[in-house]
Amino acid sequence: MDFGKIDCGENHKTTTSVAAGQRNESPRDDAWLAERVHLLRQMHFADVPQGYPIVTRFGTRARYRFGSIAARNGQTIILVNRLFADPYVPTFVVDGTLAHELAHYAHGFGSGLPRLHRDAHRGGVVDKELERRGLGEVNARAEQWRKAYWDAFYDAQCTDIVTRRTSRADDATARWDAFLRHPERRTEAELRARFLLQAARFGYTMETLPFRVEWLHATPRQTAPSYWFAKERALRLHGLLADRQVPGLLLDFELAYWVARLTVGESWQSIHAALCRVQLTELASEALNWRKRRWPAFHKKHHPLVTVKSSG
Ligand SMILES: [Zn+2]
Repeated sequence: MDFGKIDCGENHKTTTSVAAGQRNESPRDDAWLAERVHLLRQMHFADVPQGYPIVTRFGTRARYRFGSIAARNGQTIILVNRLFADPYVPTFVVDGTLAHELAHYAHGFGSGLPRLHRDAHRGGVVDKELERRGLGEVNARAEQWRKAYWDAFYDAQCTDIVTRRTSRADDATARWDAFLRHPERRTEAELRARFLLQAARFGYTMETLPFRVEWLHATPRQTAPSYWFAKERALRLHGLLADRQVPGLLLDFELAYWVARLTVGESWQSIHAALCRVQLTELASEALNWRKRRWPAFHKKHHPLVTVKSSG
C-alpha cells in the first residue's frame, strides 16, 4: 500500500466495484486498520516514543464519534467507527481519524507516555499537532468529506437506529399522554387558571400574560419541576406536577417564581424580594421545602417513563 498516494489521492465515491481485486482493495477489517496505523506511525510519528502497544479495532456505529483512544491493561485501544469499514468512506477519512488518535497518543492520552497537555482537545492541540506532522491536509480533507457526505451516509446506513430512536420518542409521547389524560390529573386548563391567579399578583391580566404555560413531557433526566423555553416564550411544568399528590403550592410557586424572574431579573435575591412583596414568602418557603424533601423520591417513583405502572 502506498500511503503517499492516499495522502493526496481521490479514492472515493467514483465506484466501489472497479478497484475491487486490486492489491490495495483489501477488506477493511481490524488487520487493515492496524496496517493503516503502522503506516501513519512510520511516516508521521516516527519520533514519538513507544508507549503502550497499540491495538486498533472497529467499534460500534455512531453518528458523532469517529474514533476513540483509551488505555486498558497496558495496551492502547484505538476504536474506529464501524461505518468506516464501508469502502464508500474514503481511506483519507479513516486516516484522518487514526491520525487524530495518534496525536492523542503522542500527547500522552491513552498511551502511558507523559502528558503534554492538560486537556486532550482544548486549544486545538490535536489539529496543531497534525499540522506540524504534515497531516493537516488529510485532516482538513477528512473534515470536508464528513461535512459533505456524512449525515446522509449515516442515515442511509443506520435506518435501524434512526427508526428505533423515533419509536422510543413515540413511546414516550404515548406514555405521557396516557399519564396526563388520566381523569384524576390536573388539566392544562387548570394549570392556566393557576397561572392567571399568580400573574395577577404581579399586575398581569389575561390579555397581558407574559408567557404561556403547559405540561412538559419530561425525560427521566429532566428533574427540575419547571423549564423555561426562551425562544417559544413558554414555561413548561414537569408533567408529574399534574399528579394531585404534588401539593398545589409547588405549582403556584413555580409559576410565581417565573413571573417574578422575568419581571425583576435572575438573581434569587431580587426574585425573593418580589415574591415577598406579593405576600408569597410563606408559600415560597413551603414549596422549596417540599421540593427539597419530597420531590426527588416522588420523581423517581412516579415518572411515567421510568416506572411502567404509573397510571394508577
Ligand atoms: Zn480526540
